[in-house]
Amino acid sequence: LKSIAVMTSGGDSPGMNAAARAVVRTALYEGVKVWGIRDGYHGLLEENMFEMESKDVGDIIQRGGTFLGTARCKRWKTPEGRMLGYQHLVDRGIQGLCVIGGDGSLRGASLLSQETGIPIVGLPGTIDNDVWGSDYTIGCDTAANTIIDAINKLRDTASAHRRVIVMEVMGRSSGWLALVSGISGGAEYILVPEEPYDLDKLCDDMKNAYAEGKRYILVVVAEGAGNAQEIGDFIAKKTELDTRVTVLGHIQRGGSPTVIDRVRASQLGEQAALALISGLSDVVFGFSKGRVVSIDLHDSVNNKKQLDPEYLHLAKVLF
Ligand code: ADP
Repeated sequence: LKSIAVMTSGGDSPGMNAAARAVVRTALYEGVKVWGIRDGYHGLLEENMFEMESKDVGDIIQRGGTFLGTARCKRWKTPEGRMLGYQHLVDRGIQGLCVIGGDGSLRGASLLSQETGIPIVGLPGTIDNDVWGSDYTIGCDTAANTIIDAINKLRDTASAHRRVIVMEVMGRSSGWLALVSGISGGAEYILVPEEPYDLDKLCDDMKNAYAEGKRYILVVVAEGAGNAQEIGDFIAKKTELDTRVTVLGHIQRGGSPTVIDRVRASQLGEQAALALISGLSDVVFGFSKGRVVSIDLHDSVNNKKQLDPEYLHLAKVLF
C-alpha cells in the first residue's frame, strides 16, 4: 500500500504513543504516506485527521496517554457509521488502517474489515492484558508497576497499624493486573473475576493469621471480582480487624511508560506498518514467549483470554 492511517481507540494506555510513533516512522522510512486520526473512531467520523511527518511524533515516546487522543464512539457500532468512516478513508486515498486499542476497538476494526475489505492491522493497547493470542498488551507493564508503587506504600502504613488493606485495581473482566501485581507485591489474597473465592473462609484464615502474629494483610481485588468497599466492610465486620479500602482508579492508566512498554510498543508499531504496507490484513500483532507474533484479528476478538494457570498456582503457593 502507498497510504495508511493510524489511530488509538478506547481506553488509553502508556506506550500507545511509542506504538503510533513507530507506525508513522516506519511508514515514512518505507516511503509510504501516513495519516493520523484523532480521537479514535469518533475522530474518523468527524474527519479529524491529518497527514503526518516525522516531527509530528517527536517528543512523545516518554509520555503516557496518547497524543492522537482517544474516544468511545457509539456510532461505530452501527454498519452505517462504519461505512461513513470507510468513505472518509477512501476520500483521502487511505488504503489501510492500524487500530491501536483494546478488545472493543479491535472488534470495531474486525467489523470494518469484514464489511468493506479495507486492510486492517490491530495492536493490543490496553493496561488489562486481556487480548486473546498475546501474552502482552501495550501499557500492562507500566500499569502493573504503578500498582506496585502503591502497594509498597500501603504496606508501610498497614504494617505500622496492623491493618488489613483491601486494594482495588482495574480489570472488569480480566484479573491479570491483580494477579501480577498481587504476586509481585506479596499480597496475601488476590481476588480475580476468573476464579471463585470464599469470603467467609478468607476471614477465618485472616483471624488465624493475626492470632499467630501476622502484622498486616493485603488483599488485591480486580474490579470485576467484586466491590472493594463491600468486601472491606464484610471483612471488617466478620474479623473485627482494622480494615481500610483503597481504590487506585485512573492513576493506573497514566504515567511515563516503562522500558518494556516502550520497546515492545515500538516493535509492534514497526510490524503493523510493515504488514499494512505489504498488503497484509486482519492481523493483530502481539507477543508470545518474548517474540512478536501475528494473531488472526477475528480469532482475537472472538476468544476470551484465560489467566495463566502457572501464575494462579504461584499466587496460591506464595500466599
Ligand atoms: P477498548 O478498545 O479499550 O476495549 P471500548 O470497549 O470502549 O474500549 O471500545 C472502544 C470503541 O470501539 C467503542 O467506543 C466503539 O466505537 C468501538 N467498539 C467497541 N465494541 C464494538 C462492537 N461490538 N462493534 C463495533 N464497534 C465497537
